[in-house]
Amino acid sequence: MARIGILTCSNATQDLGCSSVSCLADFRKRRGAFADYPQEEKLTLTGIINCPGCPTLAGPSKLLGRIRALTEFRVDAIHFSYCMKALCPFREQYRKALAETFPEIRVVIGTHEEHVTPEEFRRRVGKLFCRPKKTMVDIILDKDEQE
Ligand code: SF4
Repeated sequence: MARIGILTCSNATQDLGCSSVSCLADFRKRRGAFADYPQEEKLTLTGIINCPGCPTLAGPSKLLGRIRALTEFRVDAIHFSYCMKALCPFREQYRKALAETFPEIRVVIGTHEEHVTPEEFRRRVGKLFCRPKKTMVDIILDKDEQE
């Protein structure tokens, strides 16, 4: 049996509202990166957690604290979500830090099947980030009711 944890991108989950539905669907269906496990091996999803946010100067040490939410529960592998694979500029630093700190845990880059190229995914997600959004500023300045 393989005990699996998934690490997701907090920009994708908290800012863009991703519920990890594609990662979880392909985990259940053993597609994408989950297809690489031997068919006879049972897969258990031990936990899923998002990264602690872009780390600024703290670098991977910010992630190492957060990842205890998975590593304390005997995971055999940690999968970086597809969002992390396509979007995260810290991915390689994170991968290296986890491999050094938890050599017994396999780090896998990716989760669900890839339906578009990473370039196309970045282009689409980039548009979401750039869309004007209402915030508390609009409430404070009373601009919300004026439209
Ligand atoms: S550090 Fe990477 S995974 Fe975390 S929020 Fe930033 S881009 Fe996403």
